[in-house]
Amino acid sequence: MIQKVLIANRGEIALRIHRACHEMGIKTVAVHSTADSDAMHVRLADEAICIGPPPAGESYLNIPNIISAAEISHADAIHPGYGFLSENARFAEIVESHGIVWIGPKPEHIRVMGDKIEAKRTAAKLGLPLVPGSDGPVEGFAEARDIAREAGYPVIVKAASGGGGRGMKVVRSEDELETQISQARSEAKAAFGDDTVYIEKYLGDPRHIEFQVFGDGNGKAVHLGERDCSLQRRHQKVLEEAPSPVVTPKERDRMGGIVAKAMADMGYRGAGTIEFLYENGEFYFIEMNTRLQVEHPVTEAITGIDLVREQIRVASGEGLSCEQADIHFRGHAIECRINAEDPQTFAPSPGLVKNYVAPGGMHVRVDSGLYAGYRVPPYYDSMIAKLIVYGSTRERCIMRLRRALEEFVVDGLKTTIPLHQKLIDDPEFQRGEYTIKWLEEWLSRDGG
Ligand code: ADP
Repeated sequence: MIQKVLIANRGEIALRIHRACHEMGIKTVAVHSTADSDAMHVRLADEAICIGPPPAGESYLNIPNIISAAEISHADAIHPGYGFLSENARFAEIVESHGIVWIGPKPEHIRVMGDKIEAKRTAAKLGLPLVPGSDGPVEGFAEARDIAREAGYPVIVKAASGGGGRGMKVVRSEDELETQISQARSEAKAAFGDDTVYIEKYLGDPRHIEFQVFGDGNGKAVHLGERDCSLQRRHQKVLEEAPSPVVTPKERDRMGGIVAKAMADMGYRGAGTIEFLYENGEFYFIEMNTRLQVEHPVTEAITGIDLVREQIRVASGEGLSCEQADIHFRGHAIECRINAEDPQTFAPSPGLVKNYVAPGGMHVRVDSGLYAGYRVPPYYDSMIAKLIVYGSTRERCIMRLRRALEEFVVDGLKTTIPLHQKLIDDPEFQRGEYTIKWLEEWLSRDGG
């Protein structure tokens, strides 16, 4: 049984994990950089250990210091949150080799899914539908030409080690192919130290729809439905919802069944997200994230299942708390990511929070480490709060969200609250008619 969890993260997710632990009677250890001594999760944790200076490379990514903190505090488990070390297979192995429980997937699964080509091969073996394209790295030009002809133009050249939307080139016709491949290769080499590339058919105007999965590590797995994360700016999600406005219950059951079976066959352990592009009624696997996602609360809102609690249960060997037949989807939930940024230029706006009033009331959840007098440090991600609102229908959810955004006060910083207010009043958004390109077009049209 886990009695003390070290939380290897910061900000709202560290607080989120702390809350789940305390509700389960588990003690927490916060680790923090010198820039985060006053952070809310540090204040609330049972113990706090400083692990280094502000740059993440010297603190939140500092494996020896984190392991030492776990040993000094006698933590029996580590939860990595998202980002930082959460998808670092080597870290997971080091944690386990110290006899500490890793609240995450098996290291070999983190490793396989972290390599985009291996991930696609694995997904294909498990029966997930893929974007048509090469089934491995692309070597010579003749091979590339044949694959691109077979897939049909436009195609996209992607770096095998790519991430964060980098190392991708769209190729419109065959005469551009050779130069685009060599450009993609040299960019990938410079950014990731690996010039391996592969080719996919480029989908014109898809949605980004992802399925939440959970495995017990022993061949049992369930799905918790989908989230629509199509509203993105520079490949960063801005607002997410569950369920997707375009997925029917029948499609959810069918695709959910496919992903749950894939995870069961793989022996997957813990929480995971399978990301798809969705166009003309078809799903195409793009990648899998072997961790908790930022947007997990919308799934919690419509299923009533606490995903962090579930992660801790599975890590302690207690198995999943529910069977697929126990999981029901009710109502609608939307999450707004609130960043300390200028809502028009998106320039970061860290600094002192002079006044802070979070919205409340029925079905309104705010995950945030903010408080009046807190100084948002400039060193980390600009997301300062997540507002998650539930309603029995999508329409009611949007009405409640409008009310909650109106109440939200963060004085002293610029935030993206006004952007969300404008976005949810857009008629196309209200009709659920958007794709992954929509938000950027909207920003250059109406939002700017
Ligand atoms: P990364 O790991 O760099 O985020 P992904 O493979 O997840 O890369 O792709 C990031 C984004 O790029 C997707 O959410 C989508 O917007 C776009 N994209 C990726 N592959 C394709 C494709 N085959 N067709 C159209 N858009 C794509």
